[in-house]
Amino acid sequence: MTREISLPDSRRFFEIRFESIGGLGAHAAGQIVASAAVLRMGLNGSHFSSYGSEKKGSVVRSFVRLAPADCAIRNSAPIESPDVIVVFHGGLLAHPATLAGMRAAGTLIYAGHEHEAPDGLSRLPETTRVIRIDAQTIAREERSRPNAVLIGALTAALPFLDRQAILDTLEATFAGKHPEAVAANECAFTRGAEEFKLIENVGRGEGDLPAVTSDPLWGYRTAPLGGVLPLPGNTAHNDLHTSRNGWMPVLDADKCIDCGMCDMVCPDLCLVWSTTTGDDGQPTVKLDGVDYRYCKGCMRCVETCSTLAMTREPETHGMANRLRVPLFPDLFPATGGKHAT
Ligand code: SF4
Ligand code: SF4
Repeated sequence: MTREISLPDSRRFFEIRFESIGGLGAHAAGQIVASAAVLRMGLNGSHFSSYGSEKKGSVVRSFVRLAPADCAIRNSAPIESPDVIVVFHGGLLAHPATLAGMRAAGTLIYAGHEHEAPDGLSRLPETTRVIRIDAQTIAREERSRPNAVLIGALTAALPFLDRQAILDTLEATFAGKHPEAVAANECAFTRGAEEFKLIENVGRGEGDLPAVTSDPLWGYRTAPLGGVLPLPGNTAHNDLHTSRNGWMPVLDADKCIDCGMCDMVCPDLCLVWSTTTGDDGQPTVKLDGVDYRYCKGCMRCVETCSTLAMTREPETHGMANRLRVPLFPDLFPATGGKHAT
């Protein structure tokens, strides 16, 4: 059956932008929505993503354009002013680029806990519809992933999307490679469609938020010499906590023998050590804890720890900040080395 899209103003496409971090399934989510629209709803659609070189941890944006069947989609540029923005982790809302281009008549769906009040929401236009869904918790409880939950919420928020068509596409996507995930994804999808919350009186802005455009700063006449980085970055400023999927490693210092095996497998060197003097008067090193700012939740440290000192625990709101041992305490002095989660 062909679905009808009610397009705002005189625009030809309905545009959705997924804002995420590698590992949370934003690319797969965009693929499922666009495939369902084209193959099962009789619409035209296109989808692509932009992401960095790492599988986990780097920013991922996924773009979906939908149009009536008689309207060809010939635009493959990134979506700058979407009708819907779906944010896979509340921590991303602190970055202005996440909400850039949000339409005053649009919809924001974000993954967040009930007691969180993410930075940045007040910048939204006051007429933007804001929806929160606790995608991490639901995904953890259903042994699924946040993307299934968020697609469920998206489907409920947009009546022109055919819920059964999207669910069938979600199931078909996993039936081949991960048949054991099909039932879990269906539960997560259904809960996403039913448990979302409409948040009112959030935005204070007027009119659409400005889009972030990517005009090049330099052309061939003005670019500096090749290989010169005038503004070098520093990975100490990275914030990878949004990669965690509702679980975090927690150290029990009483069980730790400071063997260092976890440090050898941690891909982001986020374990914090100090030097002390041992009983024999010799210098020795001691594991103080984890800097969760840089921890992606890969659980290699947990799998490697032979004494069960490092365990995998469900992450609750504020827990990472409470247990965090900063690697670079002087880097963020205003927050005592803490970051905003
Ligand atoms: S592997 Fe386990 S025991 Fe060894 S340093 Fe790490 S947490 Fe401690
Ligand atoms: S889960 Fe463990 S190994 Fe993985 S990034 Fe975090 S501290 Fe490092």
